[in-house]
Amino acid sequence: MRKYTTEIIIGFIPVLIIFFIYIGQNVVPMLLMGMLGFAVVYAARGKGKLTALSSQKRRVEAKSAPLTFEQIGGQERAKQELVEALDFLVHQEQIAKLGIRPLKGILLSGPPGTGKTLLAKAAAQYTDSIYLAASGSEFVEMYVGVGAGRVRDLFKEARTKANKAKKSSAVIFIDEIEVIGGKRDGGQQREYDQTLNQLLTEMDGIYANESPRILLIAATNRKEMLDSALLRPGRFDRHIGVELPDKKGRLHILNIHANNKPIEEGVDLARIATESFGFSGAQLESVMNEAAIYAMREKSDKIAEAHLSSAIDKVMMGEKTDREASKEERERIALHELGHAIMAELVRPGSVSQVALSPRGQALGYVRHNPQQDQYLYTKQFLNGQIMIALGGAAAEELFYGERSTGSRGDFDQSMNIVRTLVESGLTELGIIDASMMTREAWAAVNRSILDELMLETKSMLESKREVFKMSLNTLLAEETLSGNEFRTLLSKHKAA
Ligand code: ATP
Repeated sequence: MRKYTTEIIIGFIPVLIIFFIYIGQNVVPMLLMGMLGFAVVYAARGKGKLTALSSQKRRVEAKSAPLTFEQIGGQERAKQELVEALDFLVHQEQIAKLGIRPLKGILLSGPPGTGKTLLAKAAAQYTDSIYLAASGSEFVEMYVGVGAGRVRDLFKEARTKANKAKKSSAVIFIDEIEVIGGKRDGGQQREYDQTLNQLLTEMDGIYANESPRILLIAATNRKEMLDSALLRPGRFDRHIGVELPDKKGRLHILNIHANNKPIEEGVDLARIATESFGFSGAQLESVMNEAAIYAMREKSDKIAEAHLSSAIDKVMMGEKTDREASKEERERIALHELGHAIMAELVRPGSVSQVALSPRGQALGYVRHNPQQDQYLYTKQFLNGQIMIALGGAAAEELFYGERSTGSRGDFDQSMNIVRTLVESGLTELGIIDASMMTREAWAAVNRSILDELMLETKSMLESKREVFKMSLNTLLAEETLSGNEFRTLLSKHKAA
């Protein structure tokens, strides 16, 4: 009976229409509604344009130029771990002989733009596999069962494509896996649960001796959100951390992206790598690209160091804006920024790279710091210094105007984040505590006591440098920028006086 359901419905519809016409009902609205409903179900079920679009996208990716591990900068440890894991796939006979369980899933976790997608593409190239990519959000639909259907289709498509291309393996890359692989709470999210269950079922159905072999690579920047069923042995049991690149890695990435660009002789990319502390691979790529755009704007046929420097500012703070501040406001902004810069030089001599009065992104002015070297551990003294640099702007405004403005909001957010780090690392008077047990009042009290004390210290340190403010203010107002060296010369003149 079930077999003929569709036929029965198709036969029944015209009979129904004729009946309605016979009794004198207007059938046009009903027909329109019916057609609309059919279109929605057809598209959502994955047979219409919606999925056709995403599989089209996957097809394009599969055809794009192959990418090798050499084209990925830094990430040496991640690359090495990944190659080791992929060798399981390459030397299949050997692992079958030893009875080793096949590797089914590799999880790449780390901040956005660090090269996880690139690693997955290079993995496909290394193992001579078909590459199919999808994003977790592609499986999210309102209708129960649609996401699960799409997971099934993805695996089917990988097998079909590998067979067609006569490849013995296929790499399926799922970005943002946390969207479908988040912890199951057994509550409202039935659709999500079904999609995840389908993924687990597909993974359980991967066998060592099947051809083509499927390898699933997933990426996330929220590993802690993933359901433990996904992470257990036999599923995503290789976890590879893809972290922000260190200085050597940043230089490598800059060099890769400089390859197809004319760079002026003598440009020191190592200096740019030092200045771009904390940048991801994607941001470094953007620095090179923006620098090229600056060079083009200036009708220069080579990229100079100044272009790269401006590009770092742009990527860090956003594009220059046309916001015209009044004379009084400009003066306040200049004093605010000088407050940050003087504190930075007092706390960490030689650290200011530039003080600028030009509005960029949300900021009305900014101080660019020179990170001396990559650092991963911070002492209480270091973090207190960071807070004082952040408070320097507000302290300067208080010194010169007797009150602060709204321009310090971001600085206070930054300071409170550092206080949080201090508390969570057991570096405050509270000792070693579980920060999640702290009440809002306790947080407010600790913020107040640390910030009030450091604010007082900052103000008294700046008070002794009033003259430096006056000496630098006019240059900054006139030139809009003050380089780190110019600024330090002014400071040492004051010291000598
Ligand atoms: P997301 O988590 O946001 O999906 P991702 O980690 O997958 O990000 P990719 O898509 O691999 O990041 O990288 C984005 C772009 O950044 C790449 O196309 C490339 O231009 C550049 N990039 C990132 N990391 C590197 C790297 N290690 N070497 C060279 N280029 C890189």
